[in-house]
Amino acid sequence: MSDLAARPKGHRLDMDGIRVRYGQSLAVNDVTLTVQPGEILALLGPSGCGKTTLLRTVAGFIQAEAGRVLVDGAPVDHLPPGKRGVGIVFQSYALFPHMSAAQNVAYGLEARGQPKADIGRRVEAALAAVRMEGFAERRPRALSGGQQQRVALARALAIEPSILLLDEPFAALDRALRLDLQLEIKRLQRRFGVTAVLVTHDQDEAMSMADRMAVMRGGRVEQVDAPATVYDAPATPFVAGFVGTSNRLHGRVEARQGADYRVRLDVGASVTVASARGFAVGERVLLCARPEHLTLRDAGTEAPDSWPARLRLSLPLGPAVVHDVEAGSTELKLHAARHGPPPEPGPVRIALLPSALPALFPIGDAA
Ligand code: ATP
Repeated sequence: MSDLAARPKGHRLDMDGIRVRYGQSLAVNDVTLTVQPGEILALLGPSGCGKTTLLRTVAGFIQAEAGRVLVDGAPVDHLPPGKRGVGIVFQSYALFPHMSAAQNVAYGLEARGQPKADIGRRVEAALAAVRMEGFAERRPRALSGGQQQRVALARALAIEPSILLLDEPFAALDRALRLDLQLEIKRLQRRFGVTAVLVTHDQDEAMSMADRMAVMRGGRVEQVDAPATVYDAPATPFVAGFVGTSNRLHGRVEARQGADYRVRLDVGASVTVASARGFAVGERVLLCARPEHLTLRDAGTEAPDSWPARLRLSLPLGPAVVHDVEAGSTELKLHAARHGPPPEPGPVRIALLPSALPALFPIGDAA
């Protein structure tokens, strides 16, 4: 697909102070994000947090009440969707049912007034790029969901978009097809250096597809970082709970030494946690520990840094094991490497691994 490969690599997208309102309710509340040339940015968040509204604003289907959309530094707010240089792939493939795969791909090029001779060549190249060259004459109803989505992707790429917008493109596909298409899109996106924004509520998808992810809640961005950073150092308790599993333990700061805080947990143990945030001695805090931050100890090994609990169930998961534990009214999940048969349910003690770096938040953030 020489046409696309020859393009300059990637364009920069800026969302600058975007605000969108439906009636009285703010769907997108002052969002500022930059997508670097050639980067995939995932917009991740629960249903209704404003992901699709933000994407549609970038596409030009929705007019923002405030803020600007810029491509390579130039505002595009005054341009209709067809003139913004964006290619869009929707959840529902949105192919024209009465047109063949090739006609569907050609449609966007024709609408943009491309010379006829060029169109055939580009349609062929786009279908080949998504490995659908053998299906050019098929109507959408004679294609599987995954194949239809490949055609939709070919249609989006054929116009050589500056920015590729992906609105839950895998949501309607079963797991195997989804993985297939995720790999395919990532491969094509890398090959062509297209800048992309991916809307998803699936954290695994965001983790595996995106260079960075913006975690949204209630119309705002709570954190934007590389997936590993979001997981290892969540900016808020919401992010800690939404991305990956978090065990929430309340406590009070007992002492501080530099960046190390001694925290007395309500479950009955004192642990030491490093944090870049500043806390006062006596302050109530929330500790969010990943399942792999905690470890099981024998019920007999009483130590001030561990607390009593009851093992309810251990589930072997390949080479790992997940322990389901309760400590008073607090439910905990632990994740560990599996050595031998899983332990029997009953009394245990729980401790924070010395190497663990759990996140510590002021209790006011704990909502
Ligand atoms: P989902 O994952 O369910 O698609 P989302 O994060 O994409 O959700 P949006 O579809 O952007 O969220 O919706 C954001 C908020 O705006 C929601 O509260 C939603 O109910 C509301 N909303 C969306 N579209 C409209 C509309 N056309 N009219 C009124 N309110 C709307």
